[in-house]
Amino acid sequence: MAVVESLTADGTVQNYVNGGWRPSDSEDGQDVVNPATGETLAYVPFSTESEINEAIEAAHTAFQTWRSTPVEERIQPLFRFKMLLEEHQDDLAEILVQEHGKTFAEAKGELRRGIENVEVACGIPSMMQSGSLLNAAPNIDESAVRRPLGVFVAITPFNFPGMIPLWFLPYAVATGNSFVLKPSERDPLVAQRLFELVDEAGFPDGVVSLVNGGADTVNALIQHEDVAGISFVGSTPVARHVYESAAAAGKRVQAQGGAKNHVIVSDSANLDFAAKKTLSSACACAGERCLANDVVLVHDDVYDEFADKLVEAADAFQVGYGLDEGVDMGALITPEHEQRVREFIQTGIDEGATLLRDGRELTVEGYEDGNFMGPTVFGDVTPDMVIAREEIFGPVVGLARVADFDEAIETLNASKFGNAASLFTERGSEARRFRHEAEAGNLAVNAGTAAPMAFFHFGGQKDSFFGDLHAQGEDMIHFYTDKAIYIERWPDESM
Ligand code: NAD
Repeated sequence: MAVVESLTADGTVQNYVNGGWRPSDSEDGQDVVNPATGETLAYVPFSTESEINEAIEAAHTAFQTWRSTPVEERIQPLFRFKMLLEEHQDDLAEILVQEHGKTFAEAKGELRRGIENVEVACGIPSMMQSGSLLNAAPNIDESAVRRPLGVFVAITPFNFPGMIPLWFLPYAVATGNSFVLKPSERDPLVAQRLFELVDEAGFPDGVVSLVNGGADTVNALIQHEDVAGISFVGSTPVARHVYESAAAAGKRVQAQGGAKNHVIVSDSANLDFAAKKTLSSACACAGERCLANDVVLVHDDVYDEFADKLVEAADAFQVGYGLDEGVDMGALITPEHEQRVREFIQTGIDEGATLLRDGRELTVEGYEDGNFMGPTVFGDVTPDMVIAREEIFGPVVGLARVADFDEAIETLNASKFGNAASLFTERGSEARRFRHEAEAGNLAVNAGTAAPMAFFHFGGQKDSFFGDLHAQGEDMIHFYTDKAIYIERWPDESM
């Protein structure tokens, strides 16, 4: 594996607290396993309460100085961090493939998206400014100021372990807060390597920290009195729990949840293009993406032709180890998750959907212990089926027939989730209606995946998001600061 030097001699992940690496005394933890080979890569301990407290206390102390450090000074370590991320992109991507299972190209793509957020946050001296007005009232000038709030925590999922921490870290520290990351326990090595680069970038001690662990760690972080706010990304039940418990504890909170995303294929669409884009949206990263479009609402007139093209695209998708050449799709994160996806496929068969392509029998030569599956395609899916309603988070895509555009929009909007949706069409009128009426936070026309750039916010609606301010861009500046109004009255005594 690409080297993570900060692991202990026996290969255990460490916390990064108050500017230094800290081994954990915890007796609780789990192995980090390569999903493609079954090889154990490391061990991640679940931090003890005193280790969590130490991290928050150091962050709280650091905040007292960092909050009044000039903004130009605050962004200097971020510029260095950005250059280090560029320089070490390949070794970060290699670690990411090994602990997560996605392909090298996908890993590089996600790191690129993460780095973009560092770049945007470097513009904080302009972005953090607020309005002011001379002569708001007689002899009174008035202005609004943004002030940092304290210690912010981000709790992140397994599926984008390189990118999602960077939705938060750069903005939190640029705005003058201190920041603590609790990465997914399933793939914590990229975060460990990112923090080696944080260390090299030279942030003041305690401004940026890393605490490893699982559910108990999350709950302890939420309850800590010196934590000002929580950002969460993960599954909907946990997002709802984090949102409710953090709000009850008086914290500022944003919680992004799971998804079930729809694609509409119009009778006017370019079907070859739509089939290729839909397949890669559903199956890239082995379907383990919150933006994966896996329910396809196809106009009746083009349904059969589109179904053939989608199966053809699925047949061409190469599955294998993410570090090997020519691989389109890697492994699923754990054998348990693979089993869960297989159960969804069985449910689809039992519910009466037609199995147009079965990905269950695939084995990858040389990687017989890997959690591999090929793309699975269902036809004749109806909106009431479990496979049309619940997040599968695997390479499974289901086609449903719709009579017209009205039925497609109605079906899409009946979903309890609202993360993303796509439309393939050659009609401007359909595109315009989609933009106005589709109930999802990320919308794309003639693109398979509605992934926003870092200078736009990233967030869903309905059961895909709990809170109001989303990740990335300007929303992060609002989330990480409080607004205060400043009024000055200086009557001119000479008059
Ligand atoms: P998860 O909910 O299992 O875990 C996410 C984080 O929560 C991890 O850090 C984990 O340690 C912690 N956690 C797990 N169970 C907990 C509990 N009971 N109490 C407190 N904390 C707990 O999610 P995952 O499997 O790592 O990630 C996949 C999910 O994330 C999918 O549902 C996917 O759609 C979603 N996701 C959403 C977005 C988005 O922007 N909406 C982005 C990426 C992933």
